[in-house]
Amino acid sequence: MARYTDASCRVCRRENGKLFLKGDRCYGGKCAFDRRQTPPGMHGSRRGKATNYGLMLREKQKVKRSYGLQEKQFRALFVKAERQKGVTGGNLLVLLERRLDNVVFRLGFANSRNQARQLVTHGHFRVNGRKVDIPSFLVKSGDVVALRDKSKNVAVIKGALDTVGRRGVPGWLELNKEGLAGTLKDLPGREELSPTINEQLIVEYYSK
Ligand code: SF4
Repeated sequence: MARYTDASCRVCRRENGKLFLKGDRCYGGKCAFDRRQTPPGMHGSRRGKATNYGLMLREKQKVKRSYGLQEKQFRALFVKAERQKGVTGGNLLVLLERRLDNVVFRLGFANSRNQARQLVTHGHFRVNGRKVDIPSFLVKSGDVVALRDKSKNVAVIKGALDTVGRRGVPGWLELNKEGLAGTLKDLPGREELSPTINEQLIVEYYSK
């Protein structure tokens, strides 16, 4: 399945929630979802009563699109979560957070996960001193993600770091802004992850 390249704000309206796909714009007064919350399209003013299946599908789509994954990648992560000990839904959310592109975004080196993915692919980061250019690379507890020396003056990274205070860095990560590096202190607990996600619906969707 091809990557979604249409207007990001339509996705938020479709999923009936802010997915924060457009960086700093999402936190200001220009957010399209704050202005109009109806679904996109000709019959957008209607949001019919959702069936059980519809609820499960929409929750899966919402999370998948928030993290910018394609169906195949998302399902593969779900299978991995299922094989791990513990609660599958929680495991899935932690795996999503551990992706290198997400960690780069959460640390504030990028304004959105899309931008973070591009920066990782272009080889701007090291993990524990080794260059890693794979967005799906899973960061572990204690790993240090650092900007490469030659990338210290990249304008989009500097701009993102200037505005990271607006959304903050989660407690399970530690940003060393001067050293241009961040550490994954410990894997996040469920209470540290988004309260608006109902991961059980995703588990039920894939268990059907
Ligand atoms: Fe979604 Fe608002 Fe960001 Fe657009 S600006 S991607 S509607 S959160």
